[in-house]
Amino acid sequence: MITIPSQNASRDGDSVGIVIARVSRILHPLSTRILRQSEITTVMQDETLQFIQQVYGVENWSTGYFDINSKGHIIVRPGKDDPRYVDLKELVDHLLTERKLQLPLVIRFPQLLTAQLRRLSNAYQSAIKEYEFQGLHYPVFPMKVNPRREVVEEFLRDSSRCRVGLECGSKAELYAAVAQEQASDSLMLCNGFKDEAFIETALLAVRAGKRVTIIVEKLNELKTVIRLAQKNGVAPWIGLRAKLYSRGSGKWASSGGEAAKFGLTTSELLQCVRLLKEAKLDGQLKLLHFHIGSQITDIKRVKNAMKEAARVYSKLRQMGCGIEFLDIGGGLGVDYDGSQTRFESSVNYTVQEFANDVVYVIKAVCDDENVPHPHLVTESGRFMTAYHTVFITSIRDEIETFAEDEAEVTVDEDDPQVITELKDLCDSINGKNYAEYYHDALEHKDELHTQFNLGLISLEDRAKGEVLFWETCARALDESEDDAFPDEEFQNLKKILAQKYLCNFSLFRSAPDSWAIHQLFPIVPIHRLNEIPRDYATLVDVTCDSDGKIDRFVDLKDVKETLELHNWKDGEDYYLGIFLTGAYQEVMGSHHNLFGNPNEAQVVIDNDGRYHVTKLVAGSRISDMVQFARYEKSQLVESFRKQLQARVESGHLTQDELQQLVATYEAGAARGTYLE
Ligand SMILES: *Cc1c(COP(=O)(O)O)cnc(C)c1O
Repeated sequence: MITIPSQNASRDGDSVGIVIARVSRILHPLSTRILRQSEITTVMQDETLQFIQQVYGVENWSTGYFDINSKGHIIVRPGKDDPRYVDLKELVDHLLTERKLQLPLVIRFPQLLTAQLRRLSNAYQSAIKEYEFQGLHYPVFPMKVNPRREVVEEFLRDSSRCRVGLECGSKAELYAAVAQEQASDSLMLCNGFKDEAFIETALLAVRAGKRVTIIVEKLNELKTVIRLAQKNGVAPWIGLRAKLYSRGSGKWASSGGEAAKFGLTTSELLQCVRLLKEAKLDGQLKLLHFHIGSQITDIKRVKNAMKEAARVYSKLRQMGCGIEFLDIGGGLGVDYDGSQTRFESSVNYTVQEFANDVVYVIKAVCDDENVPHPHLVTESGRFMTAYHTVFITSIRDEIETFAEDEAEVTVDEDDPQVITELKDLCDSINGKNYAEYYHDALEHKDELHTQFNLGLISLEDRAKGEVLFWETCARALDESEDDAFPDEEFQNLKKILAQKYLCNFSLFRSAPDSWAIHQLFPIVPIHRLNEIPRDYATLVDVTCDSDGKIDRFVDLKDVKETLELHNWKDGEDYYLGIFLTGAYQEVMGSHHNLFGNPNEAQVVIDNDGRYHVTKLVAGSRISDMVQFARYEKSQLVESFRKQLQARVESGHLTQDELQQLVATYEAGAARGTYLE
């Protein structure tokens, strides 16, 4: 940790006229905690880097895939601690200038999918070896987490190596999955609620030689499966999804437990076994499944669930069921904030610990019950996909919350009393009185607005008063930063005074969980990381929705309400990366405000460390989005033309102008939906 020299507040606004241009420096209280510009040059470069690491925590959440190079750019490695890397800033520059893409941008690194699959597989292999477990590990990718073709195909490329299979939770997912080639010993699992069509599609896959397992959620579902199997003369493998008493932890704790949406109760399980026996299909019963929720934050919960599930498995075995696979579902979490805690956006275990506990507990129970060890199926989607996409956006503008003016505010005796008093507060605030003066300033601001509403003061007076008020706030905040025990209200003030940057993206399209469930994603500028960030900021997106903002950021100990950013000037390129967005975000994102898909680039790093852009996918055009909302583009053009025609007839336009306007309107449909 580096120590940060504290800078004593020294202001040159002591004379009557305050130079408001100074406000912007004063408003960034980080500058009081960190180094002044003049001091930076005397500080070792690696101390800057260390400071940056601390601020953004890259080492904590990167899992060895992301780092910062000596240029102060984020780099991406194709594997954990792989020596090869791509400079993300240079890559983005290349995509924007040579490939003519526009921001926002999804950059997909398929190598990180494979890397995560191998990490998962290796963790289970080594646990299996260590505990002399007799079963094998069968990783299965749940398509729900990211059904994009690029993702599914990448996993299946490695199918024979790791026996990776697919899990489908809907007819559409299954439809896509059925046509994929996968290793002959890998599994295809059908979860979710199923109708006849779903089951018939699954039977098609059985005919294609796949190891299709229909996992029964409901008793009635099993009856349909039995009926269709008998009718078609083909039977799939059957799995039973058990409702466990054990629950997960974190956001999805209620996915487990007695009141869970999915799964069969104990008596339903027994009825299923009976039904299968009666239908002489008990030989097809191969798998027992449970899923106690996503992003399980606490490893203790995993152990409890494994104990319970392993007992259920053992008892079913002892009853003569030939179940060979125990499918433990997903839940393996991602440490988004890097804190390694039970916090919602974190996990208090490593993948190896998770695998060890799973294997050890299941083995112990099976040995105790004297039943064979099952093969272990995992459905870890979040873990396998979160790392592989980086979302890139840029700052486009600044949103003003408070008066900040280049002009000088001068106050004299002729000014209304409320203004001269605010000026006094502003000038004489110090470390001892700052809380009291801040409260006084709040009262004065109310008074200012009351007087304005009564028509007692002018618009100029109001502006002057507001500038003085915010200046007082900034100074109060500055003083509070030097206070060992500042009141909580100053934490709030810090958030209010933070810069608000307008970023070119839609939160609802590209990081919906940030809005929906307050999930944290690491957000870091991908360049200028050899420079100390001096601003505090929150981010707002380009949707017309006031929920379209990010004001919670990863922090090792807490959640930060503001993000440290470098001073940004209008017209400057400043790129932010939102990391670990590969799980759920792409598919759950919506077209709110008709913002469409961002442009996308797929990038692979070769053995020589050179990167290759292997695929570009154009983002949505305006025409796509109006069509999404069920407008016909040709009809829109026609209807617009008709209205112009009326203007021609009334003499407001010429026929030539009409042609031109129609052409312009028509061409507009080809534009992207984000800011250009
Ligand atoms: C959502 C889901 C998963 C994926 O869970 P992750 O926590 O993302 O690994 C696995 N299995 C089932 C049944 C699911 O519903």
